[in-house]
Amino acid sequence: MKKTIYLDHAATTPVDPRVFQAMRPFFIEKFGNPSSLYTAGMEANGAVNDSRRKIAEILHAMPDNIIFTSGGTESDNLAIFGVARSNPPSQGGTRGVLAKRHIITTQIEHHAILSPLHALEQQGWSITYLPVDKAGLVNPNDVIQAIRPQTVLISIMYANNEIGTVEPIAEIGKQLLHYRKENKTVYPYFHTDACQATGLLDLDVEKLHVDLMTINGSKIYGPKGIGALYVRRGVKIEPIIYGGQQERHVRAGTENVPGIVGLGKALELVQKNKDKESARLKKLAEYFINKLKLIPDCKLNGPELENNRLVNNVSVTFNGVEGEALVIYLNEKGIMCSTGSACNNNVSERSHVLKAIGLPEKEAASTIRFSMGQTTAKTDLDYTVKCLLEIINKLNASLRAK
Ligand SMILES: *Cc1c(COP(=O)(O)O)cnc(C)c1O
Repeated sequence: MKKTIYLDHAATTPVDPRVFQAMRPFFIEKFGNPSSLYTAGMEANGAVNDSRRKIAEILHAMPDNIIFTSGGTESDNLAIFGVARSNPPSQGGTRGVLAKRHIITTQIEHHAILSPLHALEQQGWSITYLPVDKAGLVNPNDVIQAIRPQTVLISIMYANNEIGTVEPIAEIGKQLLHYRKENKTVYPYFHTDACQATGLLDLDVEKLHVDLMTINGSKIYGPKGIGALYVRRGVKIEPIIYGGQQERHVRAGTENVPGIVGLGKALELVQKNKDKESARLKKLAEYFINKLKLIPDCKLNGPELENNRLVNNVSVTFNGVEGEALVIYLNEKGIMCSTGSACNNNVSERSHVLKAIGLPEKEAASTIRFSMGQTTAKTDLDYTVKCLLEIINKLNASLRAK
């Protein structure tokens, strides 16, 4: 059998067998609808609530702060449209001019944030897309400076999926609390997309001072198509999906019981192993980054490993080599990685994240992302560097021959 090495954990992760075991009964024997009043329904409802309690505990939240969704994208959409819809247009500003309602974000968010915000812009909202520095970091002072009386939401990702930048969420949250206190207002709310951070960083919503937080099963060895949105008590949010009364009327539809059980189990497992796994991955990243120095003309994108970098992310520019070609050649060697975010792979469009950190177009097109995880061993990285050297030498030789 061909050797395969999976270095795309930022796109999705395999399901942990223990997670699958926990989910299994809820497909077949315990298949009831959680809203039903007989035993099978109560069993399912109990499992949903157990998972909710488990997740809430890890986030230092209350169980009824957790809304289950169909994944990271829906949680992000619910945070944005949910808050937007709870703030209908009002007669703001002076002389009867309708003041534009306002949301603050960054230029390097996932499309699950940017696309909903573009849609709101079409509907007349004003959106501030804050710039980031060369490492991808947003400045907390810029965030606070951007607040207007009409700002209802700030959404900033916890860790970036392309270049691994860990944003100063707790610091922004702290400054925001101060702003709100001084201005005697509950707005703007603060949302963070923690899809990439989960399992590697602290998720305590009290320490982070966030009002809303997106969680995703598919990146933490849980199933795909399940996620949650943390919503602090008192935060006003309207549904985006209407129907039954599930999830405190915020998210209608029969609960994905196996998915919910899987999400709770997955989060429990990664959380337990968080410090150990982070330390292990950090060592591997150090090793990998050092070995990559054998390859001429390549450089790491995003922050240094010692500074605000997600330890599983290694984004590298190989100057003079086409990133897409590299991904395809690596695949022939059994190595799976990506040219950036998995969601962009069909679009031959320059990454908005690499653009925001000032990477010229040519370098952006020469960039690939390795993202490590539980399946990654040191020998995988040795093999990857060996293959990279081979492929790049061959590509360069054929370029010279032309
Ligand atoms: C993966 C990801 C999402 C989207 O998650 P889906 O499972 O595709 O819905 C959103 N934000 C970030 C930062 C992600 O990494």
